[in-house]
Amino acid sequence: AITDATPAGWRVHIVSAVTDSFGDGAQAPSEESLRVIPDAEVYVGFGMPRALFLAGAKLRWVQTGTAGVATLLFDEMRNGACQLTNAAGLYGPTIAEHVLAGVLHFLRAFDLAEEMRREKVWDQSAFATPRALVREVDELHVLVVGAGGLGSEIARRFSALGARVSGVRRRPGLGLPPGFDAIHGLSELDGLLPLADVVVLATPLTEETRSVLDARRMKGLKPGAIVANVARGALLDEAALVDGLVAGRIRGAVLDVFAKEPLAADSPLWQLPRVVWTPHVSGVSPRRFWDRLQDLILDNWARYRAGDPLRNLVD
Ligand code: NAD
Repeated sequence: AITDATPAGWRVHIVSAVTDSFGDGAQAPSEESLRVIPDAEVYVGFGMPRALFLAGAKLRWVQTGTAGVATLLFDEMRNGACQLTNAAGLYGPTIAEHVLAGVLHFLRAFDLAEEMRREKVWDQSAFATPRALVREVDELHVLVVGAGGLGSEIARRFSALGARVSGVRRRPGLGLPPGFDAIHGLSELDGLLPLADVVVLATPLTEETRSVLDARRMKGLKPGAIVANVARGALLDEAALVDGLVAGRIRGAVLDVFAKEPLAADSPLWQLPRVVWTPHVSGVSPRRFWDRLQDLILDNWARYRAGDPLRNLVD
């Protein structure tokens, strides 16, 4: 589509592989990408290795298909004249459905049913007694840490099903985004965690948010809480999460991202029951995502040529 939208005087190089790994700024660029970058004014890709950026002396605009830009914010990008735009907002609807599916899995005790099926046990009482694990969404207080593109789509879905939804954002004074009943700053997190039945992590990974759910806070969660992380693995202390799951203090974990990806072969998360696991694909929705990304790229491409402000500018 970009090739089709290319006016006279522009050339488009399609590079088959920029690096071997997805969005990792430290990766070595491919020979093919290093060959074409010195002439490039515009770069569109999933992340960009720093070495490739440094070889692109004529670059004026970098569009990444990722929402997170931590690996792109090296000093030369921050301080240079090149504009950086991301795909914030495009992943929201898909990831919100993913979180909802994971949480409903535990609310309906599908994990327990699966265990019974494996053991060939037929036990209705495990679902029907007052102490049963089954719950409904409108009983829940959901805390979404990060009330941006992902967080607000997550909040809208839970609140539509009757949950009370609180959010945490960097600047709580900016008002209440749709779907939230209340919004707070990060400094209030300690008071909020013990009240939440579900805690969803949906912030970028920064120095402020690294390990935002650390071992101390993990211990302070409401007993039986469900934890979901769809943003970045290092937002939580994985060892402390494993401890909480093993001890039964945490009801379940919905995890799409991990401190180390691919997940280490010896991680207990491979084996633990009460974990719903996906390999960093919660944002994947093959047809709809690519349509949304293509629309964004083509709109920004037209804006760039017209000298208009770009959408999703990282500033
Ligand atoms: P966004 O920029 O729209 O929203 C981020 C939210 O986090 C904002 O509400 C912001 O105020 C809040 N926040 C940032 N720093 C904070 C702090 N120090 N304290 C409190 N709140 C803070 O971003 P988004 O599109 O919602 O994406 C969030 C993150 O999710 C991305 O940075 C990316 O790392 C991750 N992500 C993961 C996937 C995936 O495939 N699993 C896909 C998209 C995004």
